[in-house]
Amino acid sequence: MARKTLVAGNWKMNLNHLEAIALAQKIAFSLPEKYYAKVDVALLPPFTDIRSIQTLVDGDKLLFTYGAQDLSPHDSGAYTGDISGPMLAKLGCQYVTVGHSERREYHHEDDELVNKKVRAAIKHGIKPILCVGEPLEVREAGGHVDHGCDQLLAGLKGLKAEQVAEQVVVAYEPVWAIGTGRVATQADAEEVCKALRATLAEKYGADVADKVRILYGGSVKSNNIAELVACDNIDGALVGGASLQADEFTKLCALAA
Ligand code: PEP
Repeated sequence: MARKTLVAGNWKMNLNHLEAIALAQKIAFSLPEKYYAKVDVALLPPFTDIRSIQTLVDGDKLLFTYGAQDLSPHDSGAYTGDISGPMLAKLGCQYVTVGHSERREYHHEDDELVNKKVRAAIKHGIKPILCVGEPLEVREAGGHVDHGCDQLLAGLKGLKAEQVAEQVVVAYEPVWAIGTGRVATQADAEEVCKALRATLAEKYGADVADKVRILYGGSVKSNNIAELVACDNIDGALVGGASLQADEFTKLCALAA
């Protein structure tokens, strides 16, 4: 089955809401409409920018979607500083990254919490982009495939097959490739993405596995996106640094289409 390519730009903790509007406008004007038939483009700005992006997208009927970089596992309550699924859904968020390695490392998020967040996103109709990927020492010890597949199964625990098929996006992001300029080779990325899809097939059936989009993330740029999306099991990219430059990001989206 044909899975539509997805390119998601993770802005991380960059850009205030005015800078966010400027970048989103540049992206909107630089990516011709014809590309959106082949590639879904999602911007994932910081929480404080989402309302501005929503207003822009709704007002100008822009063709890209947007989402958030995290959410609380809870719907509401005494959780100071957190942002819930219902709040993001009300802002029109279509995606939310969950389990990004920076959250796992700096906020000590474990697989159990990641799973709660995945379920919270799905409960509110937001597609979780579940991030998995090994640190360098695990790859060097040859444990990268098992590491990614274990994180995947833990993150999806308790979900029904149809929820996985319809709502989940997976992102394979080797930690050693994020923000380092060291992109995984085509073969290395495809090896893990293929194993992730096989794991989905084993657990939920081939039909489900066939529907789930698996992205690669880690130093993706316009000069390496084409070879990555040419792989059978890579359906797009989660892009960090390169998503902050309008020209580079739109070039990358066009090459992914
Ligand atoms: C990311 O933050 O998810 C990421 C892949 O970053 P970069 O593209 O900068 O490596």
